[in-house]
Amino acid sequence: MAEQHPHVSINMSRGQLKDSVECLKQREEMIERQLIRRGIKDPKVLNAFHRVPRQFFVDPPLVSRAYEDQPLAIGFGQTISQPFIVAFMTEQLGLNAEDQVLEIGTGSGYQTAILSELVKAVYSVEINESLYVRARGRLNALGYQNVFLKCGDGSHGWQEHAPFRCIIVTAGAPSIPRALSDQLSEGGKLIIPIGEGDQDLVVGVKTRGVLVTKQVMRVRFVPFLSKSQPA
Ligand code: SAH
Repeated sequence: MAEQHPHVSINMSRGQLKDSVECLKQREEMIERQLIRRGIKDPKVLNAFHRVPRQFFVDPPLVSRAYEDQPLAIGFGQTISQPFIVAFMTEQLGLNAEDQVLEIGTGSGYQTAILSELVKAVYSVEINESLYVRARGRLNALGYQNVFLKCGDGSHGWQEHAPFRCIIVTAGAPSIPRALSDQLSEGGKLIIPIGEGDQDLVVGVKTRGVLVTKQVMRVRFVPFLSKSQPA
C-alpha cells in the first residue's frame, strides 16, 4: 500500500490537475506556520486549506512562491490574498454546509475555492474580464461544481441568487455598498475591508434588518473598482 501523509486526506489529483508531493509539503507547512500558529482554529477551515492546491491559482512563473506568507501579483494590478487573510476572513464568517455565499472580487479564484469546500454554493463576481476568464478556467479544471462566476461590478451584488447567508468582499471599498447589505439574509454575515490605502476589516451581522458592524483587523487590500474606473 502507498504510504499516506499523516494529516492529508486528499487525492493527489483534482479534476484535470495533478498535485505534487512538494506542494503538499509546502501546503502543510503553510497551514502549520501561517495559519495554526497565528490562531486559526476551525478544523473545517484548516481542512479546506489542505484540499485546495494554491499553486494552481498563481501564474506559472510564481508557482514556486505560491505558499509564501504574502499576497502575490496575478496581473492587472491585482493580487491573490495572503493565505492568513483568506483563512481569517473565512473563519470569521462561521460557515455552514448549507450556506450560499456571495463573494465580490474573484481575482485568482483561490478564496472562491476555499469557500466552495465549506458551503453549498459560492456565487462570485469579478469586474476584470481577463481575471474572470482565468479563474473560471482554473475552477473548472479543478472540478468545482458548486461555484458560479459572473463578470461585472460587484457593488450591485447578485440579485437573482439573493439572499445570501454570507457575503465576502476582497477589495477595499469606501463604504459598504447598499446592494450588498440588502442581499444579506436576516442573521447573515458580511465581511469587507473599508477605507483607502490601509483598511479596517469590518464584520457586519444583519440584525432586525440593520447591519451591526465591528472592526476586527487592519488590512491592506487592492481598491474596490467601479465600472467607471475598471482595472
Ligand atoms: N480573493 C481574491 C482577491 C483578488 S484581489 C484572491 O485571493 O485571488 C481583488 C479583486 O477584486 C480583483 O480581482 C479585482 O479585479 C476585483 N474587484 C475590484 N473591484 C471590484 C468590483 N467592483 N466588482 C467585482 N470585482 C472587483
